[in-house]
Amino acid sequence: MPMRHRFPLLAAAALMAAVASAPTAAAAGTNPESGAREDQRTALVIHGGAGVITREQLSEADEAALRADLDRALDAGDAVLKRGGTALDAVTAAVVVLEDSPWFNAGKGAVFTADGTHELDAAVMEGHTRRAGAVAGLRTVRNPIRLARAVMEHSPHVFLVADGAEAFADTRPDVERVPNEWFDTPRRREQLEAAREREQRQAAGEALPVAPGTYFGTVGAVALDANGHIAVATSTGGMTNKRWGRVGDAPVIGAGTYANDVCGISGTGWGEFYLRAVAAHDICARVALRGDPIAVAAEDVINRIIPALGGDGGAIGLDAQGNIVMPFNTPGMYRGWIKPDGRRGTAVFRDP
Ligand code: ASP
Repeated sequence: MPMRHRFPLLAAAALMAAVASAPTAAAAGTNPESGAREDQRTALVIHGGAGVITREQLSEADEAALRADLDRALDAGDAVLKRGGTALDAVTAAVVVLEDSPWFNAGKGAVFTADGTHELDAAVMEGHTRRAGAVAGLRTVRNPIRLARAVMEHSPHVFLVADGAEAFADTRPDVERVPNEWFDTPRRREQLEAAREREQRQAAGEALPVAPGTYFGTVGAVALDANGHIAVATSTGGMTNKRWGRVGDAPVIGAGTYANDVCGISGTGWGEFYLRAVAAHDICARVALRGDPIAVAAEDVINRIIPALGGDGGAIGLDAQGNIVMPFNTPGMYRGWIKPDGRRGTAVFRDP
């Protein structure tokens, strides 16, 4: 019998056997609230930015404090996943912790613009529905990721910027507001002063290489939930000394943030290059359309295409099987993960 005839018979027999032995939904371990299968394993990966981080610049005490906040973000996201919550809730919970941490360039601790203020960008996306929400140039929203999510869930739009995004925030009593100075930290002010000084020296004709730490520090999370759904969230203060309403890749769907049914990616790095490479979408499109393993797709975009254009940075991501990737072409990337088998960790440099 030719294969095309035999297969349906075999498939039908297998299906009947499966139906005969299938336990009821409750006995199969279905969470009554979420409908999620309890045997479906979850995964979570987060970043706190890639960049020129050297062991000399990072004291042991600072590294411990920073990694403790990465662990708190993992705990927040994992708690959602473990109770059968959605990937969307998990990435929101993880990113809120990182936004509230002064160590990262998102929310509290965001970098300064050239005029000494803060302008915050964020985006969130759900893979299986392709729903997305994004905001840029926020000045008073404590947790930009919450407003990005409100754009997705409570507006007919995907991307709101500056005054319009602030006006939308005025309609959302659940979104906490703070004065712009609330985001200040002494470390970021020092970085602004150093950037201004370099600018003056460059204007006076000195040839200086790109200053370490003038960009990077964005935060992001990608989760796979018990229903097999993927979501991604990214939040940033952008680049130190930015002007003219500059917006990077983080809030641009496809550039720094993207998810589909089989892949989710959050980028961090020199945003101009991630925009030009449409980096997050490029990785996920290779996985979805060409069947590339996510590790191969992410490696090629982050470690070949971005550097070939002259940019640098990293990304985190996962696929529908919970395979986690964390490529970067910089000396370090703050990152943390919980694999489907429960193994977890945090790291900063290439060697753990
Ligand atoms: N990608 C961000 C931006 O260009 C910066 C970062 O990742 O730290 O705005």
